[in-house]
Amino acid sequence: MPTTRPTTPREARDSLLAGNRRFLADEPIGPNRGLDRMAALARGQEPWATILGCADSRVPLEILFDAGFGDIFVVRVAGNVASSETVASIEYSVEVLGTPLVVVLGHTGCGAVQAAVDNGRTPGRIPALLRQIRAAIPSAETTIDQAVEANVRHQIQALLDDSSDLRDACDDGRIMLVGAVVDTATGEVRIVDERSSSEG
Ligand SMILES: [Zn+2]
Repeated sequence: MPTTRPTTPREARDSLLAGNRRFLADEPIGPNRGLDRMAALARGQEPWATILGCADSRVPLEILFDAGFGDIFVVRVAGNVASSETVASIEYSVEVLGTPLVVVLGHTGCGAVQAAVDNGRTPGRIPALLRQIRAAIPSAETTIDQAVEANVRHQIQALLDDSSDLRDACDDGRIMLVGAVVDTATGEVRIVDERSSSEG
């Protein structure tokens, strides 16, 4: 039942995928979207999934995963990169709010990843962002789809490398780290990486 909060990392992963399947089947139930739910959450939140996603307007997370208020702790930034701010946000969701699942979600046709692959001139502060993605791309011959997937894996590794708290939470089995890619043409979410302790 989507209205029952998942508690283990695997339950949370399965609930997230179940929500995506409802969306794909055009049978969303739109859980937890009423004013009553919003009012109940005013006292505090206990989201069961944390997602580092891209800022792209084509990947709204609550719609893709058929979720509502208080379900997903959403961190979105172009290219779904693990910067100090996004890592800190995820640490907060895991250590303070107790989410059992952390997902890094890339998407097909990601403009940030494409710009990193193209390696051309970009304005303002964009080059600093693209540097964090370029480190993930194995070679100039990489296709955009390969680069999107490589970037997801790279950012998961960056979360573990940058945060001893997240590393410990993963080792303890308190969280599972999942890398996934959503196809922006179909809405289908495909898991490409999973990091968890054996008992997690
Ligand atoms: Zn993107």
